[in-house]
Amino acid sequence: MLFRSKKPVFSISIARGALEAVFDECDRYDVDETGGRLLGTYRHDQGRYDIEVKGVLEPGPNAQRTSTYFLQDGDHQEKLFRAIEASHPEIEHLGNWHTHHVNGYPTLSGGDKQTYFKTVNHENHNTDFFYALLVVTKNGGGNPRYAVKHFIFRRGDDTIYEVLAKDVRLVDTPVLRPRAMAENAEPRDPPPQPAQTGAANPQRAKDQEFFAEFYPGLKALLSKDSGAPYWKGPLQLVDGSRAEVVAIEDPDDKARSYSIATSCKNPVIADILTQYRARKFRSARHAVLQLERDLNQALYRGKKG
Ligand SMILES: [Zn+2]
Repeated sequence: MLFRSKKPVFSISIARGALEAVFDECDRYDVDETGGRLLGTYRHDQGRYDIEVKGVLEPGPNAQRTSTYFLQDGDHQEKLFRAIEASHPEIEHLGNWHTHHVNGYPTLSGGDKQTYFKTVNHENHNTDFFYALLVVTKNGGGNPRYAVKHFIFRRGDDTIYEVLAKDVRLVDTPVLRPRAMAENAEPRDPPPQPAQTGAANPQRAKDQEFFAEFYPGLKALLSKDSGAPYWKGPLQLVDGSRAEVVAIEDPDDKARSYSIATSCKNPVIADILTQYRARKFRSARHAVLQLERDLNQALYRGKKG
C-alpha cells in the first residue's frame, strides 16, 4: 500500500485579520516572548490536511513572559474559547503561535518540539495534528511586519513538517472573536508592568489600576525608541466602531504630561483629532477618558446630522 508511506500534504489558509492580531501582540511585547492559540477548522482525508485558521486567542492577563519563556493563561483562554464556540460550534484548537524574534532563535527550540510532540500524542488532544506557528524575525518597517514559520506535528509520527510560507494562503474572511467577553469582563490581575525608567511616576500606578479594572483591553508597553511608557488598545465607541488608541508619556517633560492619538478614520472626528495633537494630559487615564467622551459626542452629533 503505497499511500501509507506517502508524505502527508498540508494546505493552510489564515484569515488575514488573525495574522494581524498576532503581529499586534508581537508589537506589544517586543522584549519578551509571547504567543497564543490558533483557532479554526480543518479537514483530514488520507494524508491530506486542509487547515483554516479563523482566529487567535490572546495569551491572557496572567500569561508569564521572559525573553526565552512563555506560558499562556489557560483559564482565560478557555473562557474565550467557550465564548466563541457558543456561536461557532465547528471551531477547534488547531495549535499555538509564539515568538522567537525577541531571542533570535530562528526555528523551534528543543523544548518547543518536546512540548508539541507531547501535546499531539496526549490522549486528551482534540485532533491528530498540532500546528505551531512561529514568529521568527521582525521586518523593520516592512510588510508583512514579521516573518513567520509554520510547523505541523502529527500523532504517532516523529517527523516535523514545515509548511513553507509561500504555501500558506492569507484569506480575507472575517476573524472570529468572542463577542460577549468585553461587556462581561471580570476583574483581572494587573497587566505586566513595563520596566521602570527614570524617577517613579505616581500616575503610572494609578493608570495601571484604572485600566486593569475599566479598560482591560488597554495594555502597558514601553517604547523601544524613547524608553517612554505608553498605553495601547481598543476603545469601543458609541456607534459600535472600535478605535485603537495610544496614550504616551512625554519622556522629555518633567511634569510628566501625556498625549493621545487614535487610528480611527471616521471623518466626523477629524477636527477632534487635529485638536488632540496639541493637547496634554496629566495622566494616561485622563487622556483616554477625555478622548473617548469627545469621540462619542462627535459620533453622536454626526449621526443625527
Ligand atoms: Zn520557542
